[in-house]
Amino acid sequence: MKKTISRDKLPELWAHLSETGPLYLPVQDGPVVLFKPWSEGDEVNLDAVNIAVSPKDIFLPREETYLHYRCSGQQLELSEAEDNGEVTAFGVHPCDLKAIEMLDRVFIDQDPADALYKKRRDNTTVVALSCTEPDPFCFCNVFDIDPASAPGADVMARLDNGTLLLEAMTEKGESLLKGAGNLLQDANGQAFESKKVETADFNLKLDGLAENLKDRFEDPAWDKLYKSCLSCGVCTYVCPTCYCFDVEDFGHEKEGERFRCWDSCMYGHFTEMAGGHNPRPGRKERVRQRFMHKLQYYPEVYAEIACVGCGRCLRSCPVNLDIVQAIKALGGETVEQR
Ligand code: SF4
Ligand code: SF4
Repeated sequence: MKKTISRDKLPELWAHLSETGPLYLPVQDGPVVLFKPWSEGDEVNLDAVNIAVSPKDIFLPREETYLHYRCSGQQLELSEAEDNGEVTAFGVHPCDLKAIEMLDRVFIDQDPADALYKKRRDNTTVVALSCTEPDPFCFCNVFDIDPASAPGADVMARLDNGTLLLEAMTEKGESLLKGAGNLLQDANGQAFESKKVETADFNLKLDGLAENLKDRFEDPAWDKLYKSCLSCGVCTYVCPTCYCFDVEDFGHEKEGERFRCWDSCMYGHFTEMAGGHNPRPGRKERVRQRFMHKLQYYPEVYAEIACVGCGRCLRSCPVNLDIVQAIKALGGETVEQR
């Protein structure tokens, strides 16, 4: 099913889609664009390439109460936190959807699956949006991601001058387009094909990198690489493929809650244990962990580097200690033949 809508009618579409539950959109928030639940009057920015924080928190919120407990005599009552019900995530870029698929392997393709994450994935219809003009920090082509298409989306959308083209890719997507009724027009043979979109490649060479890193835990490259890191954690918070979290119980013996929030492997206390031992006491160990996880540990299990080339760590790290610098320092760079 293929439909179109003119850009000036989009606020009506937002109003319609938000009737059934939260509608996440790239919303201009001062100088930045964030994925946020839309409310009347929000300025939606579908042209933004650089969305400061990825949409991963739709599925893995920054903070959430995971369950409540209540004890009464010998009885323990557990109740799961309520989820958001039906959700629409509109305007997810192909790199970010690929990153969500990487998180699915960790949170869903396990036994047991993470119940809240899975429920949110099942209840969310994802409308992906093609990127037409990548910014200079985007390098998703390196990971074989096509900025113009997102195979895992429920609907693929593309802006074509003053029109938004929408193509359903799944049953959920068909139902979203059907439900919009007269707000959408039939595509009537309008071409949906996108032109090829090329991103930077930064001369990266990833073949064999994961295998090569297997025996390089003590490599001297780590002694230099970590030095500028400030342990601010920004790289992990903006990264769509990072998923460290912390779990704590709050309350007393009668009643309380289990709370989960994002955490960062770049923080000194992340691996600190109750007895005071910390297996990653310094910045070197933590920087090594972040990059080894992306470039060696994750690929060893899932046969794919845990980066989608979104460029957020390149835009955000205050000392330019991003994944491109790390890959190059570890030998993953094409050397030009003279
Ligand atoms: S690598 Fe950069 S963004 Fe990440 S913790 Fe270190 S200084 Fe912060
Ligand atoms: S490591 Fe950097 S470029 Fe790769 S997905 Fe994370 S934020 Fe994006």
